[in-house]
Amino acid sequence: MTAVPTTPRCGQNGGAMTDVNQLRLKAHLLVEGINPAPEALAGVGTEFKEQNHGLFGWDFVNHEHMHVPDDFVLSDGTVVQFRYNPSSPYLMEVRDGARVIVHGGDVKDTLAFISRPRFYEASTANGNVMRRIGQVGGEDCFFVCYQNYCAHFARGEECFFCNLVPTKKTYDSVLSKKEVKDIGEVAAAAFAEGFCNHILLTGGCFNHEAEVSTVSGIVDAIRDALGAGTVPGTILPSATTNEDDLRRYRETGIGAIGYSMEIWDEALYKGICPGKARTTSHDDFFRAVQRAVQIFGEGNVYGVFVMGLEPRGSLLAGVKALSSIGANVVPFVWSPNPGSRLEGHRAPTGDWFTDVALEAAEIVIESGVPSGTANHCYRCDGNSLLHDALRLRGIE
Ligand code: SF4
Repeated sequence: MTAVPTTPRCGQNGGAMTDVNQLRLKAHLLVEGINPAPEALAGVGTEFKEQNHGLFGWDFVNHEHMHVPDDFVLSDGTVVQFRYNPSSPYLMEVRDGARVIVHGGDVKDTLAFISRPRFYEASTANGNVMRRIGQVGGEDCFFVCYQNYCAHFARGEECFFCNLVPTKKTYDSVLSKKEVKDIGEVAAAAFAEGFCNHILLTGGCFNHEAEVSTVSGIVDAIRDALGAGTVPGTILPSATTNEDDLRRYRETGIGAIGYSMEIWDEALYKGICPGKARTTSHDDFFRAVQRAVQIFGEGNVYGVFVMGLEPRGSLLAGVKALSSIGANVVPFVWSPNPGSRLEGHRAPTGDWFTDVALEAAEIVIESGVPSGTANHCYRCDGNSLLHDALRLRGIE
């Protein structure tokens, strides 16, 4: 493989120099959550983008009657997911007219909220409120979960870290199933506002044939709505090695595909993801990634992990194995979120996450896998650290 190319930045909000302290701060904010002062939340849900719980809830406690920001941007452009924790030592306050992060009495950084998209107040021709169909992740990613349901919950076999179904019940802020036509319409409205660069499309557990046609139909609709031949972004369907299915996905014009492997260590994967492991083995996932790289090309396939539930060594072994076959990796920072089986547990420290993300970045760079930032970048969401660690090395 060739050396990792450095790509032009994909957004407009950055430009400031970043350093490892910002990565460390982000890691601590994700691990500890944030306790906001009421005045710091002014304008959330009107001027600034609020959480709409399009997929999981990532907060430490639920907050049904309180608008909190979905995410925010540190002074160097680092995007951080907001995780509400009224017990967190990290406070969000307003000082001298600016929003700041405070820890132990010291101001750690200033931050900016992200503007609320105009389409959040609009409805589709079918009369559905658009923000109940699609949302904006981070600063530039149009996000859709096409089905907020997963059959593993009904059998008591859900992944231990997942609160998809409880989150839907608690907030009921999105439609469980979305119509393809509606999704295309919302995507057109979102991209017309000018800030979306990517899409991210995911769903719960699905009948396989229905999923291929649903996902392909949605991307076709988005491509038509955008009036383009291709769609920059990533789909996250169930893992498949079927070449016809992969070609069908590729024909939609989507740039990248990813599979949620969750945990690299095989025994831990079986324990933490009992339902998923029964239908898709660790080896199935690996073969699916390999096959997808053949169809989508190196750099255009992602393995998605939950970081913090397995030892450093096994996660990094997964990063190494996938990078060596031309795939990229997105490791989300685990949150012991309400409604999941692991609610109330504790994640590793922010320093652990920082150090592992830095080591993962070295592995990715060494492997030479092409950067996938044309389809998913550090501005797409605030709940992973690897993009930020790579950004420290000039890969944006
Ligand atoms: S497969 Fe696991 S992570 Fe995905 S929706 Fe179902 S329970 Fe949640």
